[in-house]
Amino acid sequence: MDGDGMISKMLTFEVTNECNVRCAHCLMDCVTEGGARLSLSQIMRTVDEVVGEEGMNLFVVLSGGEPTLLGDDLLEILASLSVRGIPTRMVSNASWASSPDEAARVIKRLREAGLTELNLSMDDFHAVWVPVQNVLNAWRASHGVGFGSVAIAVAEGPKSRVTCESVKELLGEEVPVAPVGDELSTAPSSDGTVYVIGRGKYSRLGRGRHLKNSIVELRAGFPNGPCDKIRAGSVITSENRVAVCCGARPAENFVLAGQPLGDTTWSEASARLADDVLVRALGRLGPAFLWHLAKERGCDSLSPKDGYNNL
Ligand code: SF4
Repeated sequence: MDGDGMISKMLTFEVTNECNVRCAHCLMDCVTEGGARLSLSQIMRTVDEVVGEEGMNLFVVLSGGEPTLLGDDLLEILASLSVRGIPTRMVSNASWASSPDEAARVIKRLREAGLTELNLSMDDFHAVWVPVQNVLNAWRASHGVGFGSVAIAVAEGPKSRVTCESVKELLGEEVPVAPVGDELSTAPSSDGTVYVIGRGKYSRLGRGRHLKNSIVELRAGFPNGPCDKIRAGSVITSENRVAVCCGARPAENFVLAGQPLGDTTWSEASARLADDVLVRALGRLGPAFLWHLAKERGCDSLSPKDGYNNL
């Protein structure tokens, strides 16, 4: 894809595992104080290595936790990526958009630093902590300022009050809805920005592992087939470890995360993870294969749940 100037590598930095709110469904089980943070030098060292070694067009996602907790460091990170011509997306809870003026002030600083895409989170669990009005303020302040895309990611379950449809009504605009991950297939509006609502589902991972069956949408039976979420080296955790996915606090999982960068390089850590027999089995054969294998080898303590909502 490089020849056409398209993005060929998405690198996600979980810039912190700290958040200023504590959603009950947080995949990352974020802490409200004392969390780990990636520094500008840690991020740029990895970015420069990936660009230098792979020679690829890079797209960087800054997620967390809440990335804006990095304050001016976030602006420096964005500016450093921008001068290298690397587009960026920030995933945020919009807690900073407490009024239209405040939302406009923050958006202006983010755009001036070089942020190119904004992804706002909104659902029943976020709404307990962050007023829905904040997301609306951030959404409106993001119009016509030159973003490549502005998305509101809405996680839904069977009993959700905040849904893609209710968000659309609140916005008072005819906004397209697309599955999360597929938002950018949406056509840009007349100002050149893609405005979209991303439809996602609650996951029973991280702090969300305690969500009741009635709240998440479950599929019966054990998830069969390979895990298509496995991407060795595409995620850097807030502890500066390379991970294979960003969905389940990988830093605390000895299979899904590698050694800290600094002790090793990104390419060495990624290659080691990609070569790991369990990671390869998850990516090619899937978790069901590993579960049956463990059962066959006498691991009787494993018992499947009554339904799964991932994979
Ligand atoms: S889900 Fe998002 S906003 Fe909520 S605690 Fe986790 S990182 Fe923070």
